[in-house]
Amino acid sequence: MKIGVIELLAAGCSPTLRQTLEDFLTTKQYASIMPQAVAVWARQLGHEVYYATFYGQGDPKRKLPANLDMVFLSVYTKDCALSYALAKLYRREGTITVIGGPHAKSFPQDCLRFFDLVVTQCDRELVADILGGHYELNSIVSSGRPLTVLPSLEERMPDVRTASFLRGKKPYFASMVPLLASLGCPYTCNFCTDWNNPYSVLPPDQLEADLKYISASYPGVKITFQDPNFAVQFDKTMDVLERVPEGQRNPYIMESSLSVLKAPRMQRLRDTNCFFIAPGVESWTDYSNKAGVGSKTGAAKVQAVAEHLELLQSYVPAIQVNFMFGLDTDSGSEPVELTKEFMSLTPFAWPVLNIPVPFGGTPLHDDYLRDGRILEAMPFSFYYFPYLVTTLKNYDPVTYYQGMLDMLLHYSNRRFWWRRLGTTSSQTLRLLYTVRTLRVKEGIGRFRKILQCLTTDRQFREFHEGGSAVMPEFYHREFERLLGPYAPLVSREERIPDLRAAVPV
Ligand code: SF4
Repeated sequence: MKIGVIELLAAGCSPTLRQTLEDFLTTKQYASIMPQAVAVWARQLGHEVYYATFYGQGDPKRKLPANLDMVFLSVYTKDCALSYALAKLYRREGTITVIGGPHAKSFPQDCLRFFDLVVTQCDRELVADILGGHYELNSIVSSGRPLTVLPSLEERMPDVRTASFLRGKKPYFASMVPLLASLGCPYTCNFCTDWNNPYSVLPPDQLEADLKYISASYPGVKITFQDPNFAVQFDKTMDVLERVPEGQRNPYIMESSLSVLKAPRMQRLRDTNCFFIAPGVESWTDYSNKAGVGSKTGAAKVQAVAEHLELLQSYVPAIQVNFMFGLDTDSGSEPVELTKEFMSLTPFAWPVLNIPVPFGGTPLHDDYLRDGRILEAMPFSFYYFPYLVTTLKNYDPVTYYQGMLDMLLHYSNRRFWWRRLGTTSSQTLRLLYTVRTLRVKEGIGRFRKILQCLTTDRQFREFHEGGSAVMPEFYHREFERLLGPYAPLVSREERIPDLRAAVPV
């Protein structure tokens, strides 16, 4: 069969030249392993396979050839409306449509409105069964077993080149090659889709072979480990990384808990060429166990985390810290002030502020749904920053947006940007910080627009306070702006999500 595999990394076309450049430097590099694995498995099974990613450039429908027998789309929740529009077009052509990825796992019932098959858990056997026509169309399917084997990097390389290299041929300075060393996580953060995914290590020999392959074939190209929580088994993972001779180790990027990154371990991070770490701190009142600060909260936690990162920064050049603002444990101005203080203490660490999003299959989703706190008319396209899709326990929407704006303005002004550039001598990092600062400034513009609507439009505010079920026109216009020419394919009724999650909590 003629098979297409496409991963959507954007909801629509980049609207400006600046956005195009940003997407080329960052979004393009977010390609995941699983769609590449599906492409490899389908090829191994004898099919003619076309793989692509869409990161906001060109027409997504034209990324794959016409007249496909079957198309697999891997989709994040924020990009699902585009996938639904594409599914309609493919169905008109008689192509069987299959959706997988985070959105299918979180909201399979919603996907089923548009796709023939919805995959919530995947492996090679499941792909073979789908291609073999062993499933009835209009179903939700799952391997029902943990993933244990992935194709080697060498087998994925044609698709990695397509996704991450310049014109599918040569790596450029932003190129990243995705790898996995483990799956799942031992922590149970209630907002995270990996909260109940048990931690397991993938075969170390495979990892070693992948690392040696990239070191020999693409020296210096960055690796991005897509593990939810990298190196939980720290020493074992480092043992494998150290099997590549010193001086030949590619720089790598990963997300890991601060509790894993203890001081005596930092030297091994440097020795293995760790380039970028993104630990999740989330909150100054909660999730302290994974931040490795014991029972500390508030100002004491700010100080402890800042000191930990200061030390980490002397071993690892780039750090990003993830926060969540608006959790039920947040109240008053304290979280905002503490976060600002933390930002000032750690200008070398890039802060990422997140809004709680109720992804299906998480305890957060079930709690919010049960308590009637999810804005049910809000399309999934707004399940990402800077949009608020729930009511918050301790903030009205105006106070919340003001607090968020306060934090964004704190670290994106010219003085802070200049201070941040002074924390590194790496030109790549300076460019990255600049691109990301511009992104934050764009986000601030959207925040201000929403804040203005909240303060001047009563119906808009009532909607955000949970008092009105009618979605404001503002969001319909935003939806249409995001989707561009594909917007008419998703009617106003179809934009209302089906919030049922199939994964039992
Ligand atoms: S530590 Fe990270 S990966 Fe693990 S459950 Fe929490 S947020 Fe998810």
